[in-house]
Amino acid sequence: ATLEVLLAPFDREGAAGVMAVIHDVTEQRKTEEMRREFVANVSHELRTPLTNIRSYAETLVDSAGELPTQMEKDFLGVILNESDRMTHIVQDLLTLSRFDSGHSELKLARFSFEGAIRDVYNAVALEAQRHGHTVMLDLEKGLPEILGDRERILQVMMNVVANAIKYTPDGGRIKISAGRERGRVWMEVQDNGIGIPKEDRPRIFERFYRVDKARSRESGGTGLGLSIAKEIVERHEGVIRLVDRREPGLTIRLELKIEGPDHGA
Ligand code: ADP
Repeated sequence: ATLEVLLAPFDREGAAGVMAVIHDVTEQRKTEEMRREFVANVSHELRTPLTNIRSYAETLVDSAGELPTQMEKDFLGVILNESDRMTHIVQDLLTLSRFDSGHSELKLARFSFEGAIRDVYNAVALEAQRHGHTVMLDLEKGLPEILGDRERILQVMMNVVANAIKYTPDGGRIKISAGRERGRVWMEVQDNGIGIPKEDRPRIFERFYRVDKARSRESGGTGLGLSIAKEIVERHEGVIRLVDRREPGLTIRLELKIEGPDHGA
């Protein structure tokens, strides 16, 4: 633990001495350190795509009119991809820093939990089909409406389902199930893909954490998706976590309160 000690001399009602106030600042230090690490990661992540954009653009400009058309096209393609990736990263960063600074409020309203899941399913169906995945829906009957920020919850669901599609080799099986338990609804997304090694499992909700950087980057990943999902869910006083299963692949579980967050929405 990190302790901070403040000493204050006093002289009152005939008693004099020194008063020591001890603060435990461990938590505070940890947060500061995480912030710093975050900024460091940010600059690191932005540097690579920026360098690529610059050098390709420079080459194009320097040899204007000399490059074979195909090469020009290829280089321009790289420039476009890298700028798209940067835009994505910056958008995610903005979302996170808005959360950090408390400038982001939930827009609470009642909506159908089942409807949200079906919207996500419809949104990814084509992409899943392109990869030859079978997506199964297993929804309990009579799922209730819940109070929450629909757009944000949809973002969380999309992220989890998109990851299942992304990190499962073509022709995989993805199961989306949902139910209700006491005052909560839950949704689980199970895939039979590459899964996550035991040692990495506790870390996947951390900012910028990616098990396989090359693979994640290839598929447009920033390593921020699940940390954003976690922020959103925690703001709703819900839970998002990995489920331990014996089968290969990964299962992620989301739980939300039917009546929405009690405090500070
Ligand atoms: P990314 O944008 O890289 O996908 P996420 O925050 O969404 O970032 O996920 C963090 C990391 O967790 C991913 O890079 C990947 O390594 C791992 N991951 C997430 N979902 C799955 C999954 N369904 N199967 C295997 N690995 C996964």
